[in-house]
Amino acid sequence: MSLVKEAFLELFPEKFENRIMLLKYSAKFSKYNANVKYDSNKITFSLSNDWKDVSKEIQKGLIQSLFVRVFKSNIRTIYIDLYEKFVKNIPRFSQTTQIDLILKASFERVNNKYFFGFLDLPNLVFGRESFSKLGSYDYMSNTITLSTALLDDEELLDYVMYHEMLHQKLKFYTKNGRNYHHTSKFREKERAFENPVVEKKLKSFLAKKRMKKLFRLW
Ligand SMILES: [Zn+2]
Repeated sequence: MSLVKEAFLELFPEKFENRIMLLKYSAKFSKYNANVKYDSNKITFSLSNDWKDVSKEIQKGLIQSLFVRVFKSNIRTIYIDLYEKFVKNIPRFSQTTQIDLILKASFERVNNKYFFGFLDLPNLVFGRESFSKLGSYDYMSNTITLSTALLDDEELLDYVMYHEMLHQKLKFYTKNGRNYHHTSKFREKERAFENPVVEKKLKSFLAKKRMKKLFRLW
């Protein structure tokens, strides 16, 4: 029996499903990514090539966690637990190969001030000059990406860095197949940033930046 079929039957032994179920490994995805696409004829799971070397139990958990989303169910299995544990540990084993020096300085300031220097250095890169997406943390590649829009203001750079480092530290919380990143614990920690009006400062900084960019375009 195929891994997908097995994953399905263990989740929904009673469910009748006549669609074809496929599993593909793809080189197109970035590290440990995966998705599921479905229509009335088939359900296709695409996993990045990295998954080939991962144990079948963990792969089964990944497939089940995607099935749960497709069928909007909240069933949990030991395989889903295994998969989530695995994902949360990927950063520990991934290599850090890209470290921007400006971001490294920011990371170290924030790490010493708020984390007792305990966080491990992730990959640190600048993304585009975005005013809406200022930063992100990608678990799979253990990478913090910040917008170059923050380059002019060290405090704001550190603030967004702090936000992403909280993601790195706190990971996420899973309920009914959904992942929650900005939990109340997260928000509470975020408020520990030393400047209590930093959110306000960030908003007006971005508003000014947007204006400037508009004028540049004219
Ligand atoms: Zn966030």
